[in-house]
Amino acid sequence: MTAQIIDGKNFAVALRERVAEHTAYLKQQHDITPGLAVVLVGEDPASQVYVRSKAKQTVEAGMHSYQHKLAVDTTEAELLALIDQLNTDPAVHGILVQLPLPEHIDEALVINAIDPAKDVDGFHISNAGLLATGQQAMVPCTPLGCLMMLREYCGNLSGQNALVIGRSNIVGKPMAQLLLRESCTVTVAHSRTRNLPELVANADIVVAAVGRPLFIEGGWIKPGATVIDVGINRIEKSDGTTRLVGDVDFAAAKEVAGAITPVPGGVGPMTIACLLANTVTACCRARALPEPH
Ligand code: NDP
Repeated sequence: MTAQIIDGKNFAVALRERVAEHTAYLKQQHDITPGLAVVLVGEDPASQVYVRSKAKQTVEAGMHSYQHKLAVDTTEAELLALIDQLNTDPAVHGILVQLPLPEHIDEALVINAIDPAKDVDGFHISNAGLLATGQQAMVPCTPLGCLMMLREYCGNLSGQNALVIGRSNIVGKPMAQLLLRESCTVTVAHSRTRNLPELVANADIVVAAVGRPLFIEGGWIKPGATVIDVGINRIEKSDGTTRLVGDVDFAAAKEVAGAITPVPGGVGPMTIACLLANTVTACCRARALPEPH
């Protein structure tokens, strides 16, 4: 049996269409345009690419995009002053500070200075707490995208054994919380986990967010399981060029799994689409208007 390939690009196109439709509705019915402010400190090339891509897709969905590009030597106080200004700006419904920040700036301090209602990345400690206690939160984009794809492929997730590999604050932990909210039986593995192959063999759902190329072997996977590969790793090919691979050995895993996301083209495209969705959601919540589905 060969697994169904979960096409994240198609999912993302469909989600972006829904976001654009809701944005048009907000404009027509309520004369509001959702606005997303993205703050970039420094000139990290990868971050610049992400920020450009976020701005382009924001505008394509009909929303306002506000970009704040700050010099690498911007002080923490200057950055906090900008966050303060964006927090009180009624045209800004979502604020995203591109990570990583330069070393002289305290990342947690900056993230927790964002108004939680505008925290479209869902990294603020209040949103993490709201999610963990089953209350309405802004949910981090990558795990949110994973959940949307899982719901579509698995239907009702209740009672399924879900294994999340990785316990970062941006992927692993919120993913585990979301799966728990769906009534999965959730196991979280990390670098000290002893019996990973056994845990994988017992999982109906595997979400891999480790950052180690081809780390999860095809032979570990339970036949028919759904595999979501969050990892993005660049490896060198024999001809000296590079290619992107996930944390899962895709070629072997797709012969065993029921459904699996490829890398690239799986989780990645959904992350920005969920950022746009979160911005519209934040805008609707700010004005007590119906949220997109
Ligand atoms: P982190 O480095 O913050 O976390 C990695 C996690 O993997 C840690 O919890 C670590 O455990 C765990 N880990 C490391 N080695 C092992 C091991 N041998 N066995 C089991 N667990 C292990 O990474 P992120 O969560 O930020 O990202 C993970 C991957 O996802 C990366 O490849 C990243 O590029 C990608 N990513 C992709 C996104 C997308 O849009 N597709 C978005 C965000 C991330 P411990 O805590 O014990 O150290």
